[in-house]
Amino acid sequence: MTAANDARTTEDRYRQRQEFDRATFGTHCVNCFPNDCPVYVFAKDGKVVFEEAAAVLGTIEPGVPDMNPMICQKGLAWSRQMDSPDRILHPLRRAGERGEGRWERISWDEALAETADAILDAIAEIGPEAVVLEATPEIAATIPAARFMAALGGTVLDVDATINDFWAGQQAVFGKFTFASSIDDFFHSDVLLIWHSNPAYTMIPAFHYMVEARYRGATVALISPDVSPSHSHVDYHVPVRHGTDGALALAFCQVVLAEGLADLRFASEQTDLSLLVRTDTGEYLRESQLRADGRADRFYQWHPEKGLVPADPAGLRLDFEPLLAGSLDVRLAAGGHVVVEPLLARVRRELDAHYTPELAARVREAHPDTIRMLARKVARGRTHIILGAGVAKYFHGDLMTRAMLLLLGLTGNWGKKGTGVGGWCSSLFDGHGLALAKTKAGRAGAREIYDGFRAMVGGLRAQDPTLTSELGDRALWRLVGPARGMMPPAFFWYWHAGFKERWNRPEWNDPAMTRSFDEYWKEALESGAWNQSASPPPDRPPRVLLEIGGNTLRRTRGGQGVLLERLWPQLSKIVAMDYRMSETALHADIVLPATQHHEKVALNMPTPWTMLLTMSDAAVPPAGEARGEWEVLAELCKKLAERAKARGVEDYSDRLGAAFRLDDLWSRFTLDGVFADDESAVAEMVADAVEVGNLPAGTTLETFRQQGYTRYAKWGFLALATAQASPFPEGETHAPLRDHVELGHPYPTLTRRAQFLIDHPWFREGGEDLPAHKEAPPMGGDHPFLLSGGHARWSVHAMNTTNPVLLETHRGKPFLLINDRDAAARGIRDDAPVRVWNDVGEFVVPARTSPAQRPGALTVYNGFEGFMFPGGRGHNEVEPGLVKWLHLVGNYGHLSYTPMEWQPVPFDRCIPVDVAPIQEES
Ligand code: SF4
Repeated sequence: MTAANDARTTEDRYRQRQEFDRATFGTHCVNCFPNDCPVYVFAKDGKVVFEEAAAVLGTIEPGVPDMNPMICQKGLAWSRQMDSPDRILHPLRRAGERGEGRWERISWDEALAETADAILDAIAEIGPEAVVLEATPEIAATIPAARFMAALGGTVLDVDATINDFWAGQQAVFGKFTFASSIDDFFHSDVLLIWHSNPAYTMIPAFHYMVEARYRGATVALISPDVSPSHSHVDYHVPVRHGTDGALALAFCQVVLAEGLADLRFASEQTDLSLLVRTDTGEYLRESQLRADGRADRFYQWHPEKGLVPADPAGLRLDFEPLLAGSLDVRLAAGGHVVVEPLLARVRRELDAHYTPELAARVREAHPDTIRMLARKVARGRTHIILGAGVAKYFHGDLMTRAMLLLLGLTGNWGKKGTGVGGWCSSLFDGHGLALAKTKAGRAGAREIYDGFRAMVGGLRAQDPTLTSELGDRALWRLVGPARGMMPPAFFWYWHAGFKERWNRPEWNDPAMTRSFDEYWKEALESGAWNQSASPPPDRPPRVLLEIGGNTLRRTRGGQGVLLERLWPQLSKIVAMDYRMSETALHADIVLPATQHHEKVALNMPTPWTMLLTMSDAAVPPAGEARGEWEVLAELCKKLAERAKARGVEDYSDRLGAAFRLDDLWSRFTLDGVFADDESAVAEMVADAVEVGNLPAGTTLETFRQQGYTRYAKWGFLALATAQASPFPEGETHAPLRDHVELGHPYPTLTRRAQFLIDHPWFREGGEDLPAHKEAPPMGGDHPFLLSGGHARWSVHAMNTTNPVLLETHRGKPFLLINDRDAAARGIRDDAPVRVWNDVGEFVVPARTSPAQRPGALTVYNGFEGFMFPGGRGHNEVEPGLVKWLHLVGNYGHLSYTPMEWQPVPFDRCIPVDVAPIQEES
């Protein structure tokens, strides 16, 4: 063959690869970052052949680069999983033992009948709480699943705890955490601190804003223990020992205060640092201590002329400069006196005593000169901390976050363009909230819910005139949220999944605990704070586990070692609905084939990161017998009614006495057919969101099909959305919290200020009433290495880990990242299998040796399925899944449960382990 022929052949092959007969808009409806990339999906002969960035986005703010093109490696390879070998094409029933891997193909009717019978058995034996759904951040699956569970009365495990993306430190300081800047707001920053994140891997469509900000003159610094792949794109890399980030942040704070760089006006108005605290106990001075009829949630500042003045609960603006140093003697209502001081005085003392750059260097290794240099930059410029969810996965991640926020609070770095801290919010789209709550189809049904919410918020604000609109929304969310069937899974894990024993190991826990975990647990329950949400209780054990896009066995800290032994035997039926064979599906009884994203109509995760809502269209017909979630659950409703009728069962009630009928289940779930399939459900949600003003007038499913996306018209109405507390951004980037800073609106915290002191007795006893550095407890025993995680280059979630194209971009299998010198010292060769173990369990994994890894540290990236490891068990086998005892506090102002927010969550960073080559073991 000639060279010319070769070229023609290559050209032809390339042209053939680009041939298509259909192009639709698509996206990937999962909690990636930043989500909502509009992509073109090209299909030929009923198969998706390729995807590319649609690049259809306009300019938002003049002078700020637009978001085009939005795409990442996962999105470009997404369609390759549509016909990969692990694709589920037919309903399957287990033919052998659970996990044995033997299956028989069954009809949809058989699969739904068997599922319905198991659900009815569970309701009859235990109650509806015995039907448990592990939710998923795959939004197209989670909305129908949650609506179905609400109609049934089952238990939905709060997804923010099962995937552990709940940032307790943000909640502790701000009383909320579902706010985030739009990605283009990074462009306005003067300083970007990349902290607990690796955006070169995980924020690919947004990464250009960091580069562009740097080109504009911003300083970009990476704070990480390892030489992460983001390292080569920054001005400074500050290495920290794992788990010592809090000490570094506090050293920054010490420099800011010691060098007079703090924005004390901002700190006085926005934070509790100007509130007076008692010097004897460290608690806030409260009105209830000064007046017999005083309130425990009213606090004081120190006026230079008037002395003690009440801190306004309704507004943050000050017409005076409160004193921030010195002390004051006050008379108590109960008799006697107490000395009080501004909180800032105490904070300053603590910082000077423990966190000067030189003192803190013993803890976290960064050079004092580097700390001073960066602290000055932060104080003088608009600073944004690009904070990843990794911080939430440390036992003391809340302390680290509180320390970082103290730095921002001292330097006036939130509520302004280019400032703030990474966050997460998935609730901007009112169509979702309304779809979960509606009891009537059509716009009248949407209006009923929306107007009802507004009326209830109005009622709350009439009772308490200090409530702003945001505080009213939040007060309502705290009232009604816990009644929606979503439960903090800590109770499920403790009572039903075998974690009680692990959490009660004092040697694995924080040494500041003065009592056993169980004693704190008992006290928390007796406080009544968890009454509604401590479910399913011990006398209502689980019987049916529904996985609709979830993956319990892969993601739960603790792994198969505890779940297969303790939870699985209690379950009469495990039903997994997915488009691919996950670890949990492999251990299920019934497997249901779900449509893949390009086979159904769906909407993406609604977040402020892009301010876009993007649609994914059905580009091709479903593979095999796959069906969408709305359709399957509607059919399951019918089957439940049919089987119940045959059994003579009509109704039942849950543990709180709420009554449910089965004969009208389909009608209640689908609203007489509106929510019976993907297309109809999405059209309803879009129309509802237009009705309440959340999407622009005129938006329909058809306009989505023409444009692929829309920007929102206003914030959603739920508290999770109004937590942005900013003007809705028209023609500008979005920076949250501006209402607090520009208008003086109070925060939804106990003190109505960004709150750095948590004066609950447990926090004081634990040495955590103020931001502090504490070493991670030895969760899993005393071992020489610390195991942590992170996101792999090819994956944000497990669904991508078996994508054949993405696997080919790397070693194609899980690996343990180990420092090359540590490996040599232990006789570990690159790519050779090693055993990793601690007192909890063990797993086997190939090693990957690298000088980029920190000595003494090990990393296994998140998302690998257990079956990808030699021996079939993954790294969660060595994670004890401990929760922090302080997060059981549920009756302290803003530290109370609402869905997706304050609750105990398990940790997986800094797990002590040992490692050895397999050959040494044999
Ligand atoms: S996977 Fe997420 S970040 Fe990647 S292209 Fe799709 S929507 Fe964008």
